[in-house]
Amino acid sequence: MRKEFLPFTRPAISESDIAAVTDVLRSGWITNGPANAGFEQALVELTGSGYAVAVSSATAAMHLLLQSMKIGPGDEVITPSMTWVSIANMIELAGAKPVFVEVDRETLLVRPDAIAAAITPRTRLIVPVHFAGASADLDAIANVAHGIPVVEDCAHAVGTFYKGEHVGRRNSAIFSFHAIKNVTCGEGGMFVTPDEALATSIRRWKFHGIAMDAFDRQNRGRSPQAEVISPGFKYNLTDMQAALGLNQMRRWREINAKRTQLAMLYRELFADVPEIAPLGDPAYDFTHAWHLFIVRVNSKKIDRNTFMAELKARNIGTGLHFRCAHLQKFYREKYNYLPGTLPDTEYNSDHITSLPLFPDMTEDDVRDVVSAVREVLA
Ligand SMILES: *Cc1c(COP(=O)(O)O)cnc(C)c1O
Repeated sequence: MRKEFLPFTRPAISESDIAAVTDVLRSGWITNGPANAGFEQALVELTGSGYAVAVSSATAAMHLLLQSMKIGPGDEVITPSMTWVSIANMIELAGAKPVFVEVDRETLLVRPDAIAAAITPRTRLIVPVHFAGASADLDAIANVAHGIPVVEDCAHAVGTFYKGEHVGRRNSAIFSFHAIKNVTCGEGGMFVTPDEALATSIRRWKFHGIAMDAFDRQNRGRSPQAEVISPGFKYNLTDMQAALGLNQMRRWREINAKRTQLAMLYRELFADVPEIAPLGDPAYDFTHAWHLFIVRVNSKKIDRNTFMAELKARNIGTGLHFRCAHLQKFYREKYNYLPGTLPDTEYNSDHITSLPLFPDMTEDDVRDVVSAVREVLA
């Protein structure tokens, strides 16, 4: 058995990351400033989209988008239930209704036919997730959306490509840089969009509703006379965080290459373990960011929760991404969802666990996980 606990994730912090943050601390300018601008530019370059606005989290980006689009009572927003629940929470808090749709049982990617079936005259927005780092089927989603706006949830998807193009280019997109994501700044998010007017609106909503004029853009900061156009929030990012995010963005290829190498080894070693079913790949051309290595535990002898506890007892950490949203207490009770509403989502919600995967792991760590899994199953 392993002597040292192997967590399911650990941020990849380099000496140059530490130097980038301390440089900001020494600079005399610690809230949003030049590092924010650099971090935003890095996301424009990654995605090839037009505009990026740094915010305090992906959840904040979602909140600002809903506010900006004036989505509220009477409106519906389509989202998979297999996602982080903050998306549904923001829709709900805006006064709109989250409409939960089914995912593919093997990939956990949202099903375009399920989106098509859920569209009503009240649908204002569709939120596909590039789950675990694999790309949702953006062509098929565009075909069923018929012009309804799409915002791609790219929280798992720095380095995810769909048919040769980085995700988050053709629609608006939200990114997360929370501590567990492939590229992190501790806590942080980014709103990316090809739409200049929407970017301007989000930028205003994120900082008190204060107008940004040409003077501001040229002078790195707002003039003290700038006016409130409409009340706004305070969702900006500090430059310590942005400097960390920017420095990490320079290494995303390296970070994802290591994750991919470890994920391939897991796949190989689990090939002859029938009780463990890793997620499958979609059939179209895509590049995986390997944010998570998720498996389904299909054993008659042990359920998923006991499996996770037994691995923990053997010093192996695991995660759960995610418990489906529609059966969480609030949503279940408010909308009367019964088990069986979204069978493939619910099957996965009950059987998935995320195994350790982070760039500083070694191949021997992967072998430790696999032998502990074999032991627990036996
Ligand atoms: C992490 C995550 C979010 C939220 O990101 P925050 O930056 O923590 O707000 C949203 N969607 C998915 C799929 C996530 O995994």
